[in-house]
Amino acid sequence: MSKLFIISGPSGAGKGTLVNMIMKNFNDIFLSISMTTRQPRPGEQEGINYYYISVDEFKNRISQDKMLEYAEYCGTYYGTPREPAENALSNGNSMILEIEVEGMRQVKAKMPDAVTIFIAPPSIDDLARRIKKRNPDELDSVIEKRINRAKAEMEFTSEYDHIVVNDDLDEAYNELAALIADYIKE
Ligand code: 5GP
Repeated sequence: MSKLFIISGPSGAGKGTLVNMIMKNFNDIFLSISMTTRQPRPGEQEGINYYYISVDEFKNRISQDKMLEYAEYCGTYYGTPREPAENALSNGNSMILEIEVEGMRQVKAKMPDAVTIFIAPPSIDDLARRIKKRNPDELDSVIEKRINRAKAEMEFTSEYDHIVVNDDLDEAYNELAALIADYIKE
């Protein structure tokens, strides 16, 4: 059965890695490629990690109702383009949105059947270490913002249908994959 999965979790909790593992192993699930106004990180690619657009373009798309949801996160816009997500679902495919909590709330309000999953780090200290390691070129002020935002996001876990703690990657993957498999077999 086609399902919309929303996967959230603080930056650095490993949700990107887990989602990539899901995409490799589930052929019939599509991943929504978000749009963002931030700069690509080294190794990121247009159309694969994100569509990188200007703030003006982003605002235009909002005013034309071309975003299924969007949020401002640490001074940058992120959003889900409406068309690919709606097409996938109307064609009977399942889709994953990897988005933060504001976006999750917007989608859940429009599509209450969406399944929401929060990927949590084992601890805040562990998360702060991962955030610093993964963004060595980012300004300390931005890293600080990301760590504070991550702490704040941990308060929202109760709004999600499921929480997967990513302490051991393989265990977290097995838990997430079992959950998803269960929903799409319904
Ligand atoms: P990053 O800059 O680390 O790639 O992403 C920062 C945050 O933005 C992450 O929590 C990520 O899940 C979230 N994010 C990425 N794409 C979207 C989107 O399309 N919509 C929303 N609401 N959040 C997004």
